[in-house]
Amino acid sequence: MLQPVDRTGLEAPAVITTLPEAQPNRNTDVMIHRRIALLAAGSSIAAPALLRPAAAQAPAAAVPAQAPGFYRFRVGTLTVTVVHDGFFVFPNPTERFVRNATPPQVEEALRGGFLDAAGMRSPFNVTFIESPRGLIAFDVGTGGQLSPQAGTLVANMHAAGLDPARVNMVAFTHFHADHISGLTTAQNEVVFPNAEIVVPEAEWAFWMDDGAMSRAPEAVRGGFMNTHRRFGPYAARIRRLPPNAELMPGIASIATFGHTPGHTSYLVADGADQVLVMGDVTNRPEINLRHPDWHIVFDMDPATAVVTRRRLLDRVVADRIRTIGYHWPFPANGFVAKDGEGYRFAPADWSPVV
Ligand SMILES: [Zn+2]
Repeated sequence: MLQPVDRTGLEAPAVITTLPEAQPNRNTDVMIHRRIALLAAGSSIAAPALLRPAAAQAPAAAVPAQAPGFYRFRVGTLTVTVVHDGFFVFPNPTERFVRNATPPQVEEALRGGFLDAAGMRSPFNVTFIESPRGLIAFDVGTGGQLSPQAGTLVANMHAAGLDPARVNMVAFTHFHADHISGLTTAQNEVVFPNAEIVVPEAEWAFWMDDGAMSRAPEAVRGGFMNTHRRFGPYAARIRRLPPNAELMPGIASIATFGHTPGHTSYLVADGADQVLVMGDVTNRPEINLRHPDWHIVFDMDPATAVVTRRRLLDRVVADRIRTIGYHWPFPANGFVAKDGEGYRFAPADWSPVV
């Protein structure tokens, strides 16, 4: 890497003297000239000697394996933070993930999206909004109790400066286990001690209906039991939100039934700026935006889910609304364009400035 330096020092100043032009400042000038003198005097031997101690001060163990999974952006004056809760690996998706497509069709979609056909990752992303009324969460992730690769929400929240005790409202899209289990720990202790819990009225009515539970197939019954268990400790502070209502000024609920009986999305607006917290109206964009008519195995009323999906996506396309998808790849937000019979995801550009 380090080329033998011209010992006359002529080559180094030729490169460095471009800097004082950018920062015309006497002190900088002096510094630059000192550096030039050092380079000229020490030549190629000085540089490696200066680099080595710095490298030795950074042992491998001190370097995080990955950056914390949170991403912020603004909607008007509001700050949105998407926080990653890890992922679940859906086994054998070509056979099991879509009810109304053949395994070769699903395999083609997976390959087209560069997804693993042996085990498809389903990421989990929780949205937080710092509003004038405090910190709001939309869903709460898995609580680390559903998949060995999931459960990073609380650690990533702390990394983002979002203390669970500071959350004063949790609004739910629906009650599937990957969205509500983070309400309590494995010992069923409360994780959000100061939060009002807002639930879509229709979703609450379904999952709290003992008749529906007794009629449900064995595989779905666990969902009812999980709902009772997670919401139990919060019973005194649950608010039921009617469809298409105002969660608070600037945040509207949109009835997006189909994935579950009361599935609800939230449109957050501030001034002319808006973002849609979509929930599970679509699963992964590579599968479910590309193929909006596919019946994902988790869609409880798949025909209604398709109608809802197309209606909401058409609105998102027409109004160019930035959208957050719970199962989209982190940081799980961007825009949607029409693409043939389906839709295409355009991730929002990453910005270091919030
Ligand atoms: Zn989900």
